[in-house]
Amino acid sequence: MQLSKIGEFGLIKKLRSLCKSTSKGVLLGIGDDTAAIKTSAGITLITSDMLLEGVHFDLSFTTFYQLGHKALAVNISDIFAMGGKPKYFLLNLGIPKTYNSRDIEEIYKGVIKIADKFDIAVIGGDTCTSRHGFVLSGTLIGDADRIIMRSGAREGDSIFVTGSLGDSAMGLMLLEGQRAKVKGCSHLIRRHLMPEPVPLQKTSGITSMIDVSDGLLIDLSHICDESNVGAIIYKDKIPVSREFANTANRLGIEPLKFALKGGEDYVLLFTSPSKIKKNAFRIGEITKKERFLVDTKGKKTSFKAEGYEHFK
Ligand code: ADP
Ligand code: MG
Repeated sequence: MQLSKIGEFGLIKKLRSLCKSTSKGVLLGIGDDTAAIKTSAGITLITSDMLLEGVHFDLSFTTFYQLGHKALAVNISDIFAMGGKPKYFLLNLGIPKTYNSRDIEEIYKGVIKIADKFDIAVIGGDTCTSRHGFVLSGTLIGDADRIIMRSGAREGDSIFVTGSLGDSAMGLMLLEGQRAKVKGCSHLIRRHLMPEPVPLQKTSGITSMIDVSDGLLIDLSHICDESNVGAIIYKDKIPVSREFANTANRLGIEPLKFALKGGEDYVLLFTSPSKIKKNAFRIGEITKKERFLVDTKGKKTSFKAEGYEHFK
């Protein structure tokens, strides 16, 4: 089957059925933000994320320092999405041989700055030459007392996000269009180049969680698919930043497209039976099956898992 037909998620589904683990120690294999393994000390979380030149980043507007920061930040986001604490990081590098060692030291300055912020130890990796652009692949190990999976959402739960959506996609658009000097857009560009994951302080009562890496509609669809439920999202409740709203207005861009389908915001999306959660925005409810967006007049439109998907 052509990968462009089944897409990244169709492929992962096939790999998931090939890799069914029978090991008792594996609490969670393929299919969530991290794997989870039972150890004598508790639960260990493991996640891997790759950044490829030309796919995930463009060195004409990204510094090596920012790249190092992002290589770890995107992995931290997945550990936070399970309700865990990040601990140990390994970074594999594929480096074109024209690079200077200073470039790689800059990467590590970025890695170490955010590692120190969350008390993460950088404990290893691998280094190779690359003939096809720069590659960074990070693996982060963490721990958790309990894991919050994508599969726990129940009908009637409220849906929350922990921060504004669309900033990163708008930041990328400005950078790609060389419009990075548009007034007041530095917040948007920073959200794209230097994402800052924030953990939930209290996870009691939370039924499911994911980080928004591919876009709200795709990531919410993962929760719906894994939990076997639907969702209603109130368009006017989706949080957007002032910089995002002003820039969209100035450039004549439909803001919802970015807020619903833009990826890489690295905020958390979670569900809970309670209607109010500190430091989070309630954007909708879990339903039995139907998946709808609702506007202020009550008009419903169905939504699909649209956003960023590799191969598509
Ligand atoms: P996230 O966006 O949270 O990083 P992904 O969509 O990348 O999650 O991955 C979803 C699930 O698929 C994870 O459990 C991940 O480990 C698994 N996965 C992705 N690629 C592969 C692969 N090549 N082999 C095995 N599992 C994979
Ligand atoms: Mg994730």
